[in-house]
Amino acid sequence: MSVRNVRCVVLTSLVCVAMLIVGCRKVEDPAPVAVAPPMTDPFVVVLGIAQDGGFPHAGCEKPCCTRVWNDPSAARNVVSLGVVDPSTKQRWILEATPDFRAQLHDLEGIMPRSAELLDGILLTHAHIGHYPGLMFLGREAMGASEVPVYAAPRMADFLENNGPWNQLVRLGNIAVQRIDDGESFNLNDRLTATPIVVPHRDEYSETVGYRLDGPSKSVLFIPDVDKWERMSIDIEALIADVEVAYLDGSFFADGELPGRAMAEIPHPFIAESIERFATLAQDERAKIRFIHLNHSNPALDPESEASATIRKAGMSVAEEGERVGL
Ligand SMILES: [Zn+2]
Ligand SMILES: [Zn+2]
Repeated sequence: MSVRNVRCVVLTSLVCVAMLIVGCRKVEDPAPVAVAPPMTDPFVVVLGIAQDGGFPHAGCEKPCCTRVWNDPSAARNVVSLGVVDPSTKQRWILEATPDFRAQLHDLEGIMPRSAELLDGILLTHAHIGHYPGLMFLGREAMGASEVPVYAAPRMADFLENNGPWNQLVRLGNIAVQRIDDGESFNLNDRLTATPIVVPHRDEYSETVGYRLDGPSKSVLFIPDVDKWERMSIDIEALIADVEVAYLDGSFFADGELPGRAMAEIPHPFIAESIERFATLAQDERAKIRFIHLNHSNPALDPESEASATIRKAGMSVAEEGERVGL
């Protein structure tokens, strides 16, 4: 055999061995398959983070809102959460806000409807950011049929006894479902909601927050409350029992509304919440996501000092589109 032939045999053998090794490795150690598991777990999705008056705000030509009038991508919808169960294609909305049209459209993009328009609307109270979206279900708009609307007793009475809302009841656009403080009710066979009555300016109805429970996780939603210390339940205990807590972050600090007495519209200032929750463990603080931000709240601007302070405290501001598995 010539030197050239020997080289050829050695080279061929090496290639064969290499191919064998590669071949063996392929059999023994398959590369991970890059296919996401089918999305079947239910989840919460944030559909709005602004306070009742919206962002930008009617009549506001100050820097907080001119920034947004000039750049509509910085606008935010009024506070709302969607709940989705992909396995049954069911969708619920917490709150029926003035931005209901856009929020229903957003939800449709996340999970297209199957049979029902909506499997339910869970209301917190009768302030203007939280229920007027119901009007879009009426005969002037969608003419919906029997959409379940979950409401605590005074809220249910308010809808049934005041125009134009009672027309929605009379025409069967909505079907009011009465719920009670602390009484869990099923959304479907693996999702439950529990209303929690909280102290708030209750001119027309009581106010509730909600705890949502899925097969593996829980989420707390308290967008409107006077002050944490006025609650009959310890807010820290409620936070401890869930994975994520969306909490009232209406104002960052006192004096935020020049010329208006802020005691008349009490909310826990974010600065107060940061101070109150500072003693909690880091993973407890990380559950807290502020929502229901007034247009004046500097934390609506992620570049602001207020936003940096929240991050430094180990907490965050809720973002539209963010999801939490249940
Ligand atoms: Zn509100
Ligand atoms: Zn309110």
